[in-house]
Amino acid sequence: QSLQQIFDRLKPELCQLSSVDAQMKLLVERLQLGENEKKARGLVVQLLQEVFVEFFPDSQILLFGSSVNTFGIHACDLDLFLDLENTKTFQARAKTSTEQAGEGVSDDGRSEDSILSDIDLSTASAAEVLELVATILKRCVPSVHKVHVVSTARLPVVKYHHRELNLHGDITLNNRLGVRNTRFLQLLSGLEERLRPLVFTVRYWAKQKQIAGNPSGAGPLLNNYALTLLVVFFLQNCRPPVLPTVDQLRDMACEEEECVIDGWNCTFPSQPIAVQPSQNTQDLCSLLAGFFSFYTQFDFPSSIISLRQGCALPITDFLSQAKDGKASPEGPASEPKLGPLNLLDPFELSHNVAGNVNERSLCSFQKACQEADKFCRSPRYQNKSSKGKSWGLGRLLAPLGAAQQAHPERLVITIPFRTAALPEGLRGELHSAGDGFRLLWSRKVCSAVEVVLKNVLRCELEASTAPGPEEMETTLNDSTQSVESNSDGSPQRTGAKRPLPSGSDDSATPPGKKLRLARTAKADFPPWVCVQKHAVWVGRRKVRRELVKGPDIRPEGSCLELESQVTASIADKEPELKDPLEFKVCPQTVGGTENTRLLLNVEPGSDKAGVFHDFFHFLEVFVPKMVETVLESGAGSA
Ligand code: ATP
Ligand code: MG
Repeated sequence: QSLQQIFDRLKPELCQLSSVDAQMKLLVERLQLGENEKKARGLVVQLLQEVFVEFFPDSQILLFGSSVNTFGIHACDLDLFLDLENTKTFQARAKTSTEQAGEGVSDDGRSEDSILSDIDLSTASAAEVLELVATILKRCVPSVHKVHVVSTARLPVVKYHHRELNLHGDITLNNRLGVRNTRFLQLLSGLEERLRPLVFTVRYWAKQKQIAGNPSGAGPLLNNYALTLLVVFFLQNCRPPVLPTVDQLRDMACEEEECVIDGWNCTFPSQPIAVQPSQNTQDLCSLLAGFFSFYTQFDFPSSIISLRQGCALPITDFLSQAKDGKASPEGPASEPKLGPLNLLDPFELSHNVAGNVNERSLCSFQKACQEADKFCRSPRYQNKSSKGKSWGLGRLLAPLGAAQQAHPERLVITIPFRTAALPEGLRGELHSAGDGFRLLWSRKVCSAVEVVLKNVLRCELEASTAPGPEEMETTLNDSTQSVESNSDGSPQRTGAKRPLPSGSDDSATPPGKKLRLARTAKADFPPWVCVQKHAVWVGRRKVRRELVKGPDIRPEGSCLELESQVTASIADKEPELKDPLEFKVCPQTVGGTENTRLLLNVEPGSDKAGVFHDFFHFLEVFVPKMVETVLESGAGSA
């Protein structure tokens, strides 16, 4: 079941309850991992442990992340840490005893051809070890498939999918901090029962509004870990505080609980009992409203969020401290990657947990907070509707409607008219088409675009019956179009033929002035509704290089067959996007004889994985080049 389906079923139930508090509790009940799911996960962990210990003696598999941090929901991924510390010791010992004995058999009888003898853990890079882990997963663990190493991540991981349980999972190395911060979140849940319903609600709200919940951590959206820390920070800042600061927790711990990982102080009490209960008595309903209000007013540009101190640190202090090269009093010296949203990890103080968030994602987050804040101030938030209308969470958690989805600017790919690239026959055809050449040309280009989307990029396409682009607004001006009308509908003649500034033929448009495209700029093709299931834009260069193998470095988009192979290779090796990306492409021919061009208006549909903008930026460059190649080859002219 998708979260959307869950919500569709949940909404009537939510609206029947009598308070927001009850709604939040029901949300937890319905979303949380069930006992059977936990058991199934436990079995996978056990299986992996049994397999890995065969290859890596004394290794340990440790669970962390949402499967165990108390915030896990159905279908959340299974985050694992393969701890090879003991294996390293084992290997070092085995090596010494083998050398002393002068033979090729280790002390417990494992022969030299054990997989462990392929690698020296004391010198191997994380990527090498992960390749080995991936091989073991592929060859020895039943039901596991789509195994691949992501070595470019901050913490390199092996990703896999468990077919029977439909479970996505990650295995990392050296992730003691991840295990520790999971333990920290468990502690907070244990000492404050309002935390879970708040985190579940905020995580779900953010997913529905498409502002967070990015599963892979790649891309510019807030991930669930960062979002959870934002809730914790808000609770530290309530009056009186609902949660203590991380420094206060450190001071409440006893000596045996002291914990330092990679130089960072990660000390906190192991049991909630060591912490005084909060004096704050606000109910869930008012805390949730408080969260939205807090972040609506929060001054992101000048603050660094510190859960350790429970307050926002001025960014200026931080910058000067970094410049002085001063080490953090708590750990090793290094600076966090500053960005629009600065949220320090509670333990690894040189890490900005939201370092991936860009201006645009922060803006969407703030805008969604503003809207939620406004809604929470209205009677529809707290008062059950007597007429059976949706209220409270039933309304707050509604997914974005198509009209509200965040695409403030229309995204356009331009394909200029160029006969030079066309094969001789096609050029002749266009020439003899006389006045109809524009139509003929754009048909050819549209066919080529279809080849690129469908055959080269493996998008699933269906022609939409939605209104064609002749009814769409565009900010593009057409200097040679015969008749246009202003947004108020009055006709406007812009037909004076004037030389176009080189480079940008649209630069004459006053910024923000919207023109309705003339009826003459008709659709040659209906829009395509496309579904992309794979991140075919990620890592293409590397895959191309691997496929070409040799000095023949063909530029991107110059060979139809090669690009199709690149896509096929990515689609085979990499797992599917958790949620397929849907988008619409509306082709539109504009311009007169001199500057005819085809515009492809690209609009996101469902983009739960938050990848649309990355994909669009790839398409913007790739499609025009590829279309040219298709036209040259004649492949799109059928
Ligand atoms: P979910 O899987 O439901 O999205 P999660 O809490 O498991 O939620 P993941 O993105 O899977 O989140 O991350 C797993 C764990 O990895 C987190 O619990 C945290 O310990 C660590 N982690 C994730 N993102 C970061 C980050 N940006 N900085 C530091 N640690 C992180
Ligand atoms: Mg996870």
